[in-house]
Amino acid sequence: MNEIIGHDTAARQLRRAALAGRPAHAHLFTGPPAIGKHTLATAFARTLNCTGEDRPCGACRACRLIAAGRHPDVQTIGADNDAIKIDQIRDIQHAASLAPVEARWRVFLLPNVERATQPAANSLLKTLEEPPAHVVLLLTALDANALLPTVVSRCQVVPLRPLAIDRVRAVLEDRWGVESEQAALLARLSGGRIGWAVATLEDSAILERRQVEIDALTSVASAGRVDRLELASRLSGDEAHLGATLALWLSWWRDLMLVKAGTVDAVTNADCVQALQRLAAGYQMQQIADMVHAIQEAIWQVDANVNKRLALEVLLLNIPS
Ligand SMILES: [Zn+2]
Repeated sequence: MNEIIGHDTAARQLRRAALAGRPAHAHLFTGPPAIGKHTLATAFARTLNCTGEDRPCGACRACRLIAAGRHPDVQTIGADNDAIKIDQIRDIQHAASLAPVEARWRVFLLPNVERATQPAANSLLKTLEEPPAHVVLLLTALDANALLPTVVSRCQVVPLRPLAIDRVRAVLEDRWGVESEQAALLARLSGGRIGWAVATLEDSAILERRQVEIDALTSVASAGRVDRLELASRLSGDEAHLGATLALWLSWWRDLMLVKAGTVDAVTNADCVQALQRLAAGYQMQQIADMVHAIQEAIWQVDANVNKRLALEVLLLNIPS
């Protein structure tokens, strides 16, 4: 699993289990978006089914088909932003009951299981209780706490944490040839999520969207009630980006805290120091701390499927002017 960047301990343990032919029947990879959950799970699937010498070899038929998402025994359930539905779990149950077509293990990857519908989650639980011997389920989720405890307890949990910022910067420079100032900025903005940094390299729209969100952030303090409610409505309707927006807000208000405390060098949004200094001058430390807390609360509420619009309205109306 040499292509995995970071997550050394987890990668080593998974590789050992795969080589010994003793994977858990279900693994649950947890961690923030774009941290490498799906990449690690896919690498594990390849190590399990690779027929080469140094597993995963990357060259055998199994490795190549899995990397291309076309191996008959390694199946990813659902697209990126869709909730897993009960029919899909039933399909898994049927496929799981059959022997693998050509590989040793039949592997099912289930991304974002926290978004599974309630009937699907209940049905998944049954699959986890009595999996056939040749089946390995690889679940990913942002947070194990958002899942049924009975689901979590049947999985081997693999918690993934952000990499050190310096490591992300070094990888961007060495592997992707990014020049050093840009690498340093992306590494900071990534918060240690290499997948985010690489996606941003490949898609300039991500940084453009960040700039739009920062403009909205910096202007909301002087906006009136109506504009704030409008922004809450717009954000809550944009489910695909809401998590990223709230993460940006959290990093922004943490940065305000750092600037207020006089530790400008440690800010995440290193390209916005002037704006941060200007805004921080207008706030008391306690106001900033309260906002950090309020944003964390909103992130939790959104994850827990509380009414998103209401949570955002409360948050936005509370931003001190
Ligand atoms: Zn191989």
